[in-house]
Amino acid sequence: MKRTLCLLTVFCFFFGLAGCKNTKPVQETVFAMDTVMDLQIWGAEADSAAKSISSLLLRLDNTWSAAKEDSLISQLNRKESVSLTREQAELLEDVQVLNKETNGAFDPRLLSVSKAWGFYEKDHRIPTEETLSSALSDPKWDLGAVMKGYAGDQAVAILEETDVDGAILNFGGNIQTFGQKADGTPWQIGIQNPRGNNYVGIVSIVGTCAVVTSGDYQRYFEKDGVRYHHIIDPKTGYPADSGLASVTVICKNGKTADALSTALFVMGLEAAKDFWQERDDFQAVFITTDGSVYATDGAALSGCEYEVICREN
Ligand code: AMP
Ligand code: MG
Repeated sequence: MKRTLCLLTVFCFFFGLAGCKNTKPVQETVFAMDTVMDLQIWGAEADSAAKSISSLLLRLDNTWSAAKEDSLISQLNRKESVSLTREQAELLEDVQVLNKETNGAFDPRLLSVSKAWGFYEKDHRIPTEETLSSALSDPKWDLGAVMKGYAGDQAVAILEETDVDGAILNFGGNIQTFGQKADGTPWQIGIQNPRGNNYVGIVSIVGTCAVVTSGDYQRYFEKDGVRYHHIIDPKTGYPADSGLASVTVICKNGKTADALSTALFVMGLEAAKDFWQERDDFQAVFITTDGSVYATDGAALSGCEYEVICREN
């Protein structure tokens, strides 16, 4: 009887461990890049991965935040001489490539314009034409439209070198998945309703992927019934009035996903569709200001009615 009990205990102990394996994630919350970031990581080294990713986020923020006086990007904006690591130089080159590829819709040097609207100091105002045109002719780095996606790529590099099974990282609504969910089912990512506190639909993701949303509801102010949001049309200096309320980009590369979500928002639905036809590295979900939903044919969107955007050969 004693032996049976003992065996049972050993069995339960091992079974219990195996049953628990990966079911409970390590969770960590970090405040960086002016937003709350949630990490959920499963696996043997989830703890150390969470710590490394937390310090990565703080390091990236200290380096690339244009709001921090002593950051590298502020030094660059003051035209101080700085030496860049290879990685930093590459990032600055990459954002310039993304600027060209999107025909200027993604513009990493709009800091003066965002400041003119008070989005940086959270002191919102409508700038005069004069202020706007001088801001447009004063290009200064602001990597706010790409940094959370870039952070996702860097986090994936950490996760790849650690013994973890899966992770879901939520950087203020920008999602990075990694590996497998504990129960083997796809990751389910909700697409926020731009005009409500619920999800419009769900995107299913298998494996490692970035799901990044740009929306007119994320940062905005209203004056005389008009919404002035934080995504700027570089051609005018005004908040992009493209008829879109949000764009979600699903892409293996987080930096590309982030830059493209901003750029496609500026382009508007028709130009964004054409842009997608020319590329094969991303899928997208578009929500217009009147609430219509459109998704490219590989977006794996469910839970709502939407128009599918298909490949033209
Ligand atoms: P996101 O939420 O990724 O679309 O990025 C928006 C942020 O990027 C804004 O808060 C600005 O800091 C900056 N930004 C605004 N408009 C643009 C643009 N057209 N291209 C690149 N960055 C932009
Ligand atoms: Mg972006």
